[in-house]
Amino acid sequence: MLMYLNLHTQRNDNINSKNSKSMKFEKVPLPYAPDALEPVISKTTIEFHYGKHHQAYVDNLNRLIVGTEFENADLETIVKESDGAIFNNAGQVLNHDLYFTSFSPNGGGKPKDKLAQAIDEQFGSFEKFQELFNEAGVSLFGSGWVWLAKDGDGKLSIEKESNAGNPIRKGLTPILGFDVWEHAYYLDYQNRRADHLKELWKIINWDVVGQRYELKAV
Ligand code: MN
Repeated sequence: MLMYLNLHTQRNDNINSKNSKSMKFEKVPLPYAPDALEPVISKTTIEFHYGKHHQAYVDNLNRLIVGTEFENADLETIVKESDGAIFNNAGQVLNHDLYFTSFSPNGGGKPKDKLAQAIDEQFGSFEKFQELFNEAGVSLFGSGWVWLAKDGDGKLSIEKESNAGNPIRKGLTPILGFDVWEHAYYLDYQNRRADHLKELWKIINWDVVGQRYELKAV
């Protein structure tokens, strides 16, 4: 269920399937219109990134788990315990569900309440945290993710992960992730990853991210 990540149920009854009992993973619904994040993320990028890339990870995962020990597992378990192609696709399903639900056309500004306090305590200030987060994203070689994560005591850290990596594998809870795969920015920013990362702060939905920080893992 991943309720502490503020995500909806990951599996839905696939009533169109020949096997009415089969459950399939689905993408998290996009909580805004495809053009709503412009100019930070264009409608075209959303159509490819959410519509094609994210869909492909979901489709691959549903296909790959058939007949394996993960056939009826929840997404978090699969991400923690699988490897190879199943892990790559499950990780990317979780990563993109978190990513696309972190934005709002009315986003931006600063974190609030407990998350704001924790960021100040851990990094000195929100501005210093942004600087370190951007640096981590820019310096990540190749494809991957930069995450803000929390441990069981609520302590924050910035985690660089290659490819489909997610800090959940280290026992940490992901709070916010920036996708630094080229498919996330190339249509809008070409090779300018740093420019893209700086712009993303304008659309962060701090209500959602703050809830992820405050909700306890179950
Ligand atoms: Mn991506």
